[in-house]
Amino acid sequence: MTSKIKINGKEYERPTIWINGKSVKVYRYIMEQHLGRKLSPFEIIHHIDEDPSNNAIENLQIMTREQHTSLHSAGKRRVKQNKG
Ligand SMILES: [Zn+2]
Repeated sequence: MTSKIKINGKEYERPTIWINGKSVKVYRYIMEQHLGRKLSPFEIIHHIDEDPSNNAIENLQIMTREQHTSLHSAGKRRVKQNKG
């Protein structure tokens, strides 16, 4: 399935778009437009339904890399976090 992504009236077919010579993941761009600011490299965009082609803003969740890693590993086996 090819998902088309619409941003500001423009459609994108690829998960990566090019802005000023840099490749940007389209879901990061969508989140940046939503927030009205740039994302830091430490901010990870998670797809709530785990479908990376679903770049609807409602499906995108912003989190740290640590949160993201634990979220995905927690989905496979439920582990209590006993850190710190
Ligand atoms: Zn994720």
